Amino acid sequence: MPWRDRPSPYRTWISEIMLQQTTVAFVIPYFERFIKKFPDLRSLAGAKEEEVLALWAGLGYYSRARNLLLAAQKIVRQYRGVFPNDFDSLISLPGIGRYTAGAILSIAFQKPYPVLDGNVSRVFSRLTAQNKTPEEFWRMAEDLLDHERPGDWNQALMELGATVCAPENPKCGSCPISFTCAAFKTKTQNLFPAPKIRKNAVKLNWNFLWIERDGKALLWKRGEKEKLLKGHWGLPEIGRVKAQVGSLLKSASHTITHHQIHVRVYQGSLKEEVTYPMKWAPKVELPKFLVSSLWKKCLPKAN
Ligand code: SF4
Repeated sequence: MPWRDRPSPYRTWISEIMLQQTTVAFVIPYFERFIKKFPDLRSLAGAKEEEVLALWAGLGYYSRARNLLLAAQKIVRQYRGVFPNDFDSLISLPGIGRYTAGAILSIAFQKPYPVLDGNVSRVFSRLTAQNKTPEEFWRMAEDLLDHERPGDWNQALMELGATVCAPENPKCGSCPISFTCAAFKTKTQNLFPAPKIRKNAVKLNWNFLWIERDGKALLWKRGEKEKLLKGHWGLPEIGRVKAQVGSLLKSASHTITHHQIHVRVYQGSLKEEVTYPMKWAPKVELPKFLVSSLWKKCLPKAN
């Protein structure tokens, strides 16, 4: 894993944020591209949001990328560009919670802070053959932590969960802690952890306009109060601009977290001039602005 070489606070932070909800194999090329473009904190802090989002395109959960930029700017402004090495400062940064702070402190600074992610929770649940609350598992993580080598300990635990104690068919035969695992002894591995109750899918209908002029397409910067894709550039929704709605050009289905979205894009013609948060973008530059995979499905073909 490229972030294991020279595990600086910056590289550890970027990798941990990318790895949330995403597998290692998927993250590696994104991490390498990101570090090549923004090798350090100051280069990231000086970036435009569009540049960061473009490098994030395909990883999803875009608030992670926007928070990376905000946090980098805050570190430069408030900590003179030096990565904080205490828990309270770290969790005051956008996008950094207890888990990420623990990972940075233990891996990059060798400080005795535990981590608890989905993989570690699964190992703990099977190890004890119990379904405990997150707070109880955090206490367990603190009690078990190796204070001599907290970074190695935390990474070993996370990797054990990711590669050996897998959600389905754990490889107990090659597990180094099977001798002390209650679920293994009682053959109840598949009962722990208890399955999560899934939220019901929320169905949404989004209707957009495709309006073009002189080789440019009209884009709308979604506001901070939008429920999804806040702060993203996208096509304007019907009703956001005064326009004639024409024929249906494309429709598609898209899922964001537990939202099932039915998207339709209609030809539109503008009735009056527009200002920010609308803007005209050259069609060749659309991939730079329309980073969500939603747009790959529903932009009109000829464009
Ligand atoms: S013995 Fe099996 S269930 Fe127990 S921790 Fe190891 S891989 Fe997981």
